[in-house]
Amino acid sequence: MQAQHSPSNNETNPSLLTDIAVQAHEILREEYDEYATMLEYRNAWELLVAVSLSAQTTDAQVNKVTSVLFARWPGPGDLADAPIGNIEEVVHSTGFYRNKAKNIKAAGAVIRDTFNNTVPDSIEELVKVPGIGRKSAGVILHHVFGKPAIIVDTHFGRVCSRIGILSCDPAEKKPDPIRTEKEIAEILPPERWSSFSMVANLHGRRYCTSRKPDCFNCPLREICSYRYLYVEPVQPGAASTQSAEAASTPSSVPEDGT
Ligand code: SF4
Repeated sequence: MQAQHSPSNNETNPSLLTDIAVQAHEILREEYDEYATMLEYRNAWELLVAVSLSAQTTDAQVNKVTSVLFARWPGPGDLADAPIGNIEEVVHSTGFYRNKAKNIKAAGAVIRDTFNNTVPDSIEELVKVPGIGRKSAGVILHHVFGKPAIIVDTHFGRVCSRIGILSCDPAEKKPDPIRTEKEIAEILPPERWSSFSMVANLHGRRYCTSRKPDCFNCPLREICSYRYLYVEPVQPGAASTQSAEAASTPSSVPEDGT
């Protein structure tokens, strides 16, 4: 049964939020490949380095760099012992190269010395590796170890906020990531965490963009609080009479410049 939309989803009971989140997950699963990642890797260590390099650049650019990087320094110990200047040279094109080089070199040392050359498979241990935050740890847990993880980034948070499954106003574009993770964990079972994270992230990039969400064509439009509150305001239960053009062009949306 389809969950009934209410503009005040975030003030209602947890079971309604679960219904909406599950429904959104099922719809988005039809739309996106939850295992899609353009980062190329052959093992956990290579994905760890790739995600560490992926901030503020494209996956394609990371792949170009990692193919050279792993040819020269295949394992954690190799990278840990490599001269920092040489690493900086290789990762230069990914941007923020000084920080990234420092992080992956330090990560190599930690994986070698603390984790016996094995990438750990828990979020608590992964976040001890330099350059790895909860989001990157979640990506590694999901893609390499097949473990449940809620992977919170700006796209995921925005989609969750807008469809009304968080306690904040659906117009909040940047909900607090820790609170987002906690609230999603409370309404979705662990077996849905990683998959929902991946497809909601892709949805935030394709339809539910920060500046101009494509609500008219969005597959979540029937269950989305933001659409009902800010794009195509209607009384609950009443049919909308707004034009398609109006529906796809928010006019009363708070703009925070992002
Ligand atoms: S209807 Fe609009 S705001 Fe809601 S999820 Fe879709 S694109 Fe985002």
